[in-house]
Amino acid sequence: MADAILLTSGASLNAEERGRLASAYPSLHVDGPDAMAGLDPAARDGIRAIAFKGHAQMSGAEMDLFPNLGVIANYGVGYDAIDVAAATERGVKVTNTPNVLNDDVADLAVAMLIAQCRTMRNGEAHVRSGAWAREGEIPLNRKVTGNTAGIVGLGRIGREIADRLAAFKMDIHYHARSEKPTPGWTYHDDVVALAEAVDFLFVALVGGPATEGYVSRAAIEALGPRGVLINISRGTTVDEGALLDALEQGKIAGAGLDVFLNEPDIDPRFLALDNVVLQPHQGSGSVETRRAMAVLQLDNIRAFLDGRELLTPVN
Ligand code: NAP
Repeated sequence: MADAILLTSGASLNAEERGRLASAYPSLHVDGPDAMAGLDPAARDGIRAIAFKGHAQMSGAEMDLFPNLGVIANYGVGYDAIDVAAATERGVKVTNTPNVLNDDVADLAVAMLIAQCRTMRNGEAHVRSGAWAREGEIPLNRKVTGNTAGIVGLGRIGREIADRLAAFKMDIHYHARSEKPTPGWTYHDDVVALAEAVDFLFVALVGGPATEGYVSRAAIEALGPRGVLINISRGTTVDEGALLDALEQGKIAGAGLDVFLNEPDIDPRFLALDNVVLQPHQGSGSVETRRAMAVLQLDNIRAFLDGRELLTPVN
């Protein structure tokens, strides 16, 4: 089979995504890297590109199953599931889908902050249960506009979050490995110092081993009892045990979380907390954005197979 592509995480590709890929090239589906070794060797020989989706690890061992593999096109900007060093060693290109999802992820980050501060979960339950008519108003909650916000990782998504928070009249602080051009926002070279300075801390780092536990116990505790932590990056970037301790003990006021360790089987301690807003890793999950991501993934595959420059290469 010439120029075939392998679709991974077949189950989580929706019909439109799967149809778009399958109508462009002869294709095979597997449910994830674990299933790749089960493919017929002759079929594996024909695979030139992998359309990758999901968070299961794709290591060098899986790449070696495909002697003619040239590109792994990731569906998503975060490619921490793919061993990029192993790909580079084998001459395999990796691509991702940056920028097209920035707005959605930033929107969700701000939405989780507002939902947390304005106790929207409780408000919704109050209306639906009839308690509003029986008991009257819900307890007063917390103003969002005008507070001080910190961004950990002022990259593409972090910048979109900061721009939104600036429109909420917030004083913006940030931490990254280097200072960025900003409209006068305050830079901190240390994440604990950043947390100390702000009310709301947004985590927008890349995932992977280099940022594991980057938002440490000390940083979480430095946020203080009025602090709210919002994480839309990866579960790995925050010390999750320390976050749970701080939420349980009231060391911080609350959290809004779209990402966790061990998704989707998250730590049940989260479910017992009423000071958190929990989302199922749906940051980029609008119809419009997911379509743009799928199109960019396929455009990268097309570019590779046509011998053109890749649109959004990682390595
Ligand atoms: P980006 O533009 O590359 O920005 C990433 C930020 O992480 C930068 O500020 C960078 O700092 C920082 N960083 C990278 N490596 C670091 C290290 N070793 N130590 C400290 N800081 C480091 O990425 P993006 O497009 O904004 O995406 C950020 C992440 O969001 C993705 O990688 C993904 O994990 C996550 N995401 C989540 C969802 C969701 O559904 N919740 C959707 C999309 C993306 P410097 O500026 O110093 O380089």
